[in-house]
Amino acid sequence: MVRKYVTETVLADATGIARAARILRDGGLVAVPTETVYGLAARADDEAAVARIFEAKGRPSFNPLIVHVRDAKQAAQYAEWGDNADLATLPWPGPLTIVVPALPEAVLAPAVTAGLPTVAVRAPAHPVMRQLLSQIDFPLAAPSANRSGFISPTSAEHVLASLDGRIDLVLDGGPTQAGVESSILALREDGSWEELRAGPVDLDALHRHYFGIGLPLREERKTLEAPGQLASHYSPGKPVRLGVTDPAPDEIMIGFGPVAGDVTLSLSGEVKEAASNLYACLHLAAVSDKPRIAVAPVPEKGVGRAINDRLRRAAAPADQRRGS
Ligand code: AMP
Ligand code: MG
Repeated sequence: MVRKYVTETVLADATGIARAARILRDGGLVAVPTETVYGLAARADDEAAVARIFEAKGRPSFNPLIVHVRDAKQAAQYAEWGDNADLATLPWPGPLTIVVPALPEAVLAPAVTAGLPTVAVRAPAHPVMRQLLSQIDFPLAAPSANRSGFISPTSAEHVLASLDGRIDLVLDGGPTQAGVESSILALREDGSWEELRAGPVDLDALHRHYFGIGLPLREERKTLEAPGQLASHYSPGKPVRLGVTDPAPDEIMIGFGPVAGDVTLSLSGEVKEAASNLYACLHLAAVSDKPRIAVAPVPEKGVGRAINDRLRRAAAPADQRRGS
């Protein structure tokens, strides 16, 4: 049985942020805006607080959490940061998560890394999240603020629709910008890079910048390293058909560019705008009275790769659903 809480919503002004900091210090759960989606934050060094994240989301315990920090200096308290010059110039703060070996002495709740020898760290750029992190002396574990397997939240309303009564506070900072979850980059011990999840930061372009060539293609992984990659995820709870230009009468159409829809990712056909509207469109489609969803083709360029990745998983059969 999931415990019942009274969920309060406050504006993300100075008073609201101070209140969030207090609740987090005491081991509570707070939904916070980031530049990607809303995160469900708890102190990452507190086992009971982290356990509440898994309980509130119904998240499987094998799925590790991203540790949110102020900057690279704080990340070095938890991760084997080394003196890798590349790291100093990575686009931080920003929507980029880096997976590196965890420091054995790092004070983190064991569930945060789900027993893996690595840890995922990110310094978010959203001003609310940054102010919050500057007021506390511990990092925040923060997966997306939604029930496991379903659509990620890009507004306080989305958070409440999913988690009202399961968390302590929602810090309402308005709709989020980037709209899809952070890019995840694993830095291997041999110095090679691996993309674990496509996101707003173009890892291929970044790799080209550092090494003069694009990111090598990933081999199919057998073990579960980043469950965000699992087949079914981000589910709107009804069948989704992709690459559609001609919807059936019982389908709610999500348009893009020249392909018109009942709702539209981007009228002008821009992938960045489409990313920021993606989950809001899926939320609308989920509550529409049409039983099925059709989505226009989205080009596989820039953040379009991340959009198509999420759409493919939204369209995957529910029996393959895992992760959050
Ligand atoms: P979210 O559920 O949106 O917060 O996404 C977190 C993602 O980060 C999940 O796909 C996790 O599996 C991934 N992740 C977190 N920690 C690690 C880690 N140590 N190694 C690989 N992936 C990780
Ligand atoms: Mg998630």
